Amino acid sequence: MESAFERTPLFPGYFQVHKRKCGNPGCHCSRGHLHPGTRILIPFADGQSVVCPRPEEIEGWKLRTEAYKRHRESRRRFRRWQSEVVKILDDLERSRRSTEGLTEEDAKRPLVEGERKKRRGK
Ligand SMILES: [Zn+2]
Repeated sequence: MESAFERTPLFPGYFQVHKRKCGNPGCHCSRGHLHPGTRILIPFADGQSVVCPRPEEIEGWKLRTEAYKRHRESRRRFRRWQSEVVKILDDLERSRRSTEGLTEEDAKRPLVEGERKKRRGK
């Protein structure tokens, strides 16, 4: 959880090291020894985009995208923990349930489980 409260900048992108050709026909990359390149995949709401940072920008992108990864991992862990606690609360609720005062017929009817639907209006 701690990483969710870091104060460093983050960015929702995916750091990727890939191999590429530079386009120079005389270069060794045209004979299969490709250049390692770094790019950032950015999932914009209206479609993915790619940023190819200059060498001096790479470290900044790396820090921000890794901070983002840690933040998302914290969020996932919190969600898992949250649903485990809700499950425990639901089990407790079921174990405390008493059908005292119901007719025999109603006592056999299934009760609403889990989240209640919100009533409109009222
Ligand atoms: Zn090349």
